[in-house]
Amino acid sequence: MKHTKIVPAWGMILRGHRPFLSIEITRECPLRCPGCYAYEPNHLQDNVPLRQLRDFQGEALIQGVLRVVRRYRPLHLSIVGGEPLVRYRELDVLLPQLDAMNVEVQLVTSAVRPIPRTWGTIPCLHLVVSIDGLQPEHDRRRAPATYERILKNIEGHQLTVHCTITRLMIGRAVYFEQFADFWSKRREARKIWFSLYTPQEDDSSADRLRPEERIQILSELREIRRNFPKVELPDRVLEGFYCPPDSPDQCIFAQTTTCLSADLSTRIGPCQFGGRLVCQECGCVASAAMASTGRYRIAGLLTVSSIFAGSKKLGERLGKIQGAAKATAPISAGDPHG
Ligand code: SF4
Ligand code: SF4
Repeated sequence: MKHTKIVPAWGMILRGHRPFLSIEITRECPLRCPGCYAYEPNHLQDNVPLRQLRDFQGEALIQGVLRVVRRYRPLHLSIVGGEPLVRYRELDVLLPQLDAMNVEVQLVTSAVRPIPRTWGTIPCLHLVVSIDGLQPEHDRRRAPATYERILKNIEGHQLTVHCTITRLMIGRAVYFEQFADFWSKRREARKIWFSLYTPQEDDSSADRLRPEERIQILSELREIRRNFPKVELPDRVLEGFYCPPDSPDQCIFAQTTTCLSADLSTRIGPCQFGGRLVCQECGCVASAAMASTGRYRIAGLLTVSSIFAGSKKLGERLGKIQGAAKATAPISAGDPHG
């Protein structure tokens, strides 16, 4: 989120709204990545598997997303999947309209198919391509979205490369340095982000990182960013990785983001991962950034997170009062909240 949107975001919280929205725009994906949280059986709160959820196409999807955006009025929208590029025709129509509505859009993709060239001229759009390590590991996990295919499909774009670090990537000297080096040399990569694998409660997979491994990775990344300026890892984000929130209630990211699945109404909670998460091992870069911001003290007194919690409570109370007033008032046809 741009710094200029912090004050509007706070204003929204005070009015009882969540300023961020995340939409799984489709249930479809041609990949079968190990560790994909979207297709875990408990991803959605009512345990309906994502592939069995209703989803939309064509004009129904375009109008459905616009309706949701008008209803929630987010400052920032994350479009995730499934694979969003499955619906590239609809996105061709939607993205310019979202830009006209002054919504910042982050679109997270595997780049399994070409990203339309015209998207490079949409000012609100930030493309993020998921890359699971160096080519051998990535290609094993993410075929058919292999390195070779991605490099063709992102040509002409400027985007962020996002690597979620799993246990399978560690134990090899200079692995992350090689990764940063490879992507720093690609002109398409404007920034490189790292996240750490975030486990579910019963996760015994080979991807899950041990506490001492997290510490080791973070100290490697601290060094790597010095030599590779495209690696965006400010101190405050590193601090967030070192000290994740204890629970969703303490996670500013979860508390400020509404997450909807492919039917555009089913909520995902407590955050976009869904399921039963181990927050103390959270490695989400967005949560890390917000967690550390929350610890800053304004004028040496109150932390941002305590001001946020107070604002949120106040906003929810005001929202309830406004809701009660609305319930007794005639319905207005122009009311964006219906
Ligand atoms: S591309 Fe994304 S949604 Fe598709 S299987 Fe991989 S992680 Fe899951
Ligand atoms: S983003 Fe991380 S800390 Fe926040 S609720 Fe999800 S798993 Fe927990």
